[in-house]
Amino acid sequence: MQAVQYDVLVVGGGINGAGIARDAAGRGLSVLLCERDDLAQHTSSNSTKLIHGGLRYLEYYEFGLVRKALQEREVLLKSAPHIMWPLRFVMPHDSHLRPAWLIRAGMFLYDHLARREILPGSRSVNLRRHATGEPLRDHFRKGFIYSDGWVQDARLVTLCAMDARERGATVLTRTAVVSARRGPRDWRVTLRDEQGKEREVGCRLLVNAAGPWVGELLGIAQVASRRQVRLVKGSHIVVKRLFDHPYAYIFQNPDKRIIFAIPTRTITP
Ligand SMILES: Cc1cc2nc3c(=O)[nH]c(=O)nc-3n(C[C@H](O)[C@H](O)[C@H](O)COP(=O)(O)OP(=O)(O)OC[C@H]3O[C@@H](n4cnc5c(N)ncnc54)[C@H](O)[C@@H]3O)c2cc1C
Repeated sequence: MQAVQYDVLVVGGGINGAGIARDAAGRGLSVLLCERDDLAQHTSSNSTKLIHGGLRYLEYYEFGLVRKALQEREVLLKSAPHIMWPLRFVMPHDSHLRPAWLIRAGMFLYDHLARREILPGSRSVNLRRHATGEPLRDHFRKGFIYSDGWVQDARLVTLCAMDARERGATVLTRTAVVSARRGPRDWRVTLRDEQGKEREVGCRLLVNAAGPWVGELLGIAQVASRRQVRLVKGSHIVVKRLFDHPYAYIFQNPDKRIIFAIPTRTITP
């Protein structure tokens, strides 16, 4: 039997796979999205759920990257306001880490690098008088408030996959890509479903959106790469409520690591 042929086969039903499938289907390509578990079952449902422009990347002069992320933040807030909300952050100022003028300059850039219609701009705050100063140590007198957003991450993935399907894509969950061979004109890809049944499909383009398993998929597809994936770990620690106001905090450590303190009702409405 002739294998079904697609323009694009996307491997991985996280936010990257679902987003790529939606984009490709929207461009009129025939698309198959394969996820071996469920949509958003892994990294994309365990994020900190922030839609941010990447304030801290300004310190590395990544202006282009931050600008793109800020533009996209606005697009997302407009396109799915039922699963995304603005979130105000407080950055307590620690003069040992960087001078106030530098932070103010960073905040100015963050406010103005991209067009901003929904979120309010940044401002400084007297932590001795503002509610956000209450749970902090006494030496924090001054802070900066800026905007980002938060999202129900798993729903974002599901909605992207549903939209991809409405635009003609085929979305298969519980379907693993177990082998892929590049032929003279296309890829021959073997899919295995939950019952262990295998079938072959063809595609012109194979997209590796396998997240932390991106290296494993390179092995499956027998693609040699000199680059290694470096996995990054983040931890979410749930503690008893320490404050009642709706603001979140961003704390910077001297070793440049960042700690967020986010009210849990934001995470689980
Ligand atoms: C602790 C933490 C906090 C984060 N917080 C944020 C945040 O606040 N904001 C933000 O924007 N980003 C955040 N991120 C980053 C963000 O979560 C990731 O960049 C994103 O979820 C990666 O999505 P993905 O689609 O690449 O991977 P995944 O969501 O892991 O999806 C990959 C999928 O591929 C599937 N797969 C693998 N191999 C195969 C195969 N052979 N066949 C079929 N399917 C396969 C897997 O089952 C998996 O579902 C955070 C990340 C971490 C770890």
